[in-house]
Amino acid sequence: MTASRYALIGHPVAHSLSPRIHAAFARQAGIDMRYDAIDAEDFDAALAAFDGAGANVTLPHKQRAAAACSTLGDRARRAGVVNTLVRGDGGWHGDNTDGLGLVRDLTGRQRLDLRKRRTLLLGAGGGARGVAPALLDAGIGDLFVVNRTPERADALADALGEPMRVHPRYLDDLKGLGEFDLIVNATSATRNGSFPGLPMSLAGPRTAAVDLSYGEAAVGFLAWARAAGARDMVDGLGMLVEQAAESFALWHGVRPDTDAIHAELRAREDALVSA
Ligand code: NDP
Repeated sequence: MTASRYALIGHPVAHSLSPRIHAAFARQAGIDMRYDAIDAEDFDAALAAFDGAGANVTLPHKQRAAAACSTLGDRARRAGVVNTLVRGDGGWHGDNTDGLGLVRDLTGRQRLDLRKRRTLLLGAGGGARGVAPALLDAGIGDLFVVNRTPERADALADALGEPMRVHPRYLDDLKGLGEFDLIVNATSATRNGSFPGLPMSLAGPRTAAVDLSYGEAAVGFLAWARAAGARDMVDGLGMLVEQAAESFALWHGVRPDTDAIHAELRAREDALVSA
């Protein structure tokens, strides 16, 4: 085992900002650490070949990562997905920092009050599974879960275990639901330009629209939200930095300050999107 070695495992990972974020955290904390992006279609093979002390896991492997762990933290068990691996004596320990990262960004940097917000969650993949329990814990109101493959929305709603509060819905059955206070896009649809058409009636003057993606990938959903009259538009860059800080704290016992790297990456993303 190489104690100073960490990595992000996913497919694709070429454009990930995580190595840059963790390098900034390590400089700030004075920790000698190497963090690589490992592009792997076969998660199990990549993990078996990895000799480091910890790793982040991104799409499409978060469920697979949970299955590869010998122990799971409470957040990962509830979510059924792992984004942070910590090597222990008996194998990998899995945790999930996505939900806390999102809630920290929304309630801290964005100053949104999430309590009692009637919420629509688009997607039921690794990202959606990670953020749903944290949103419920943050005190949102009813949560409607919608996914292209309806069985996965049903499975997520079942796993959350709050049938009076969590409601799976079909994508083509959204018209009568009215305006939401919070809409979270946790699909990867806009990455390939295939964001599904949504009724404009879902968003309005009291809606905060949040895309877990950032940069070009968030443009389609946030443009829809703006056209529908949403009040706040938030992309996933702040969440990315905050979930990384939580992972860093799990590995090193120090939670880094996130403002400087967030400001640096925000300036970079704004320049890229407007170019
Ligand atoms: P997964 O591959 O696990 O899930 C993808 C989700 O998107 C599924 O719900 C899938 O539906 C849905 N989807 C894909 N294509 C379409 C489409 N054309 N129309 C409708 N739905 C579609 O990915 P993740 O959940 O891990 O990631 C989702 C997004 O969230 C990514 O853009 C990722 O970068 C971002 N993310 C950002 C984070 C951050 O820190 N900012 C953290 C986690 C995720 P189906 O089940 O039907 O396939």
